[in-house]
Amino acid sequence: PVVTRFAPSPTGFLHIGGARTALFNWLWARHTGGKFLLRIEDTDRARSTQPAIEAILDGMKWLGLDWDGDEVYQFARASRHAEVAFDLLERGHAYKCFATAEELAEMREQQRAAKLPMRYDGRWRNRDPKEAPEGAPFVVRLKAETEGETTIHDLVQGAVTVRNSELDDMVLLRSDGTPTYMLAVVVDDHDMGITHVIRGDDHLNNAFRQLGIIRAMGWPEPIYGHVPLIHGDDGAKLSKRHGALAVDAYRDEMGILPEALNNYLLRIGWGHGDEELIDRDRAIEIFDVAGIGRSPGRTDRKKLENVNGHYIRAADDARLTDLTAPFVAQKIGRDLTAEDIELLRRSMGVLKPRAKDLLELAEGATFLFRTRPLDMEDRALALLEGQGEQLLAAVTSALSSAPWTNEALEEAVRGVAEEAGVGLGKVAQPLRAALTGRTTSPGIFDVLLLLGRDESLARLSDRMT
Ligand code: GLU
Repeated sequence: PVVTRFAPSPTGFLHIGGARTALFNWLWARHTGGKFLLRIEDTDRARSTQPAIEAILDGMKWLGLDWDGDEVYQFARASRHAEVAFDLLERGHAYKCFATAEELAEMREQQRAAKLPMRYDGRWRNRDPKEAPEGAPFVVRLKAETEGETTIHDLVQGAVTVRNSELDDMVLLRSDGTPTYMLAVVVDDHDMGITHVIRGDDHLNNAFRQLGIIRAMGWPEPIYGHVPLIHGDDGAKLSKRHGALAVDAYRDEMGILPEALNNYLLRIGWGHGDEELIDRDRAIEIFDVAGIGRSPGRTDRKKLENVNGHYIRAADDARLTDLTAPFVAQKIGRDLTAEDIELLRRSMGVLKPRAKDLLELAEGATFLFRTRPLDMEDRALALLEGQGEQLLAAVTSALSSAPWTNEALEEAVRGVAEEAGVGLGKVAQPLRAALTGRTTSPGIFDVLLLLGRDESLARLSDRMT
């Protein structure tokens, strides 16, 4: 059975590139009926932080990328990593290197001067450790294969070959006894039973070195899939100037739904014909690692908005209300009452066809909750001058005697337009301005119905001079 994993280093926020890697691993596990595991690679003690760990767990939960079992913390497993290094040492697949820092610096200096590739020259590979001074510090290095070549049949990159002479004897254990990242990854992947390593292609070079350890241990080799990193819309490597990078910014600052972000991330660099809208169930059904493209996918703001708009329209009104309420509160500068929430829920049907994110949804709803007298946009005020003023007076009087039903309201507004010999829009404009303080809003009859009779007439009378 397939076992995949996501192995983030908790040194910052959950990056959308990381989230996409997690998604691919999650989908592959769910598609195959296997398992998806989470490993927090917190061995860099200086840069790993608890808030970063929480941001990762939180982001994964928000995206619905549930992992099987408890997450594994890499640092806690350091003694197991060391055990493997000593096992390799005992069996002659690794050796102690007593070279001092100064010695190695000198070696690199000579290589630099001779324009040779800089790599460890194996000076302790065949030496007897007894030649080292008593109690001298040492690192443990892998006795890497020097002959032949190594080929990885990568699910995404195809066959990739490296000459073994290019890989030097890497450090497995540092002189303080702590394991290197390269060793830790291999041991953890093995112990966790990982069958498929799907990760960013910035790790492809590491895979050859990691295979060296795996083969020396005689462990089963995982299947690799090295995924191109996401690029920006201009084709350059993704960076801050292309927009938000952190998953929580998509949620908290941009009003993106998690199902929309998943759909969008899936479609960056992976496709199934020209299907754009692929929900979770459909994705589980059709996802295939081998379908990941070999060239980097690009971000596309328009696509994100389209996809998000789709999922907003599809979302349940009660859930959308919960998600939108905090944004509304932010915009109007106060918390919503239970009554406000109920009104917000009733307005969803009218608001959601127009919104591409939750901020727009909230913006569309703010007119419902503004306090009287409304603060007016300049352009809205301008609509209340001249003919606008007369039409507003006429429509106010017509509405005050109308029953508050869609039909009756329409009849009243239409009557005013006909009387004045103008189109319906001419009457709707000042009416909208007076009711919302803005020049755009949902349809005018929806506005009247959502505000209700008392509030509507009160807002209109605020405009009468
Ligand atoms: N911790 C590594 C990273 O954050 C991933 C290692 C791996 O997937 O093998 O880039």
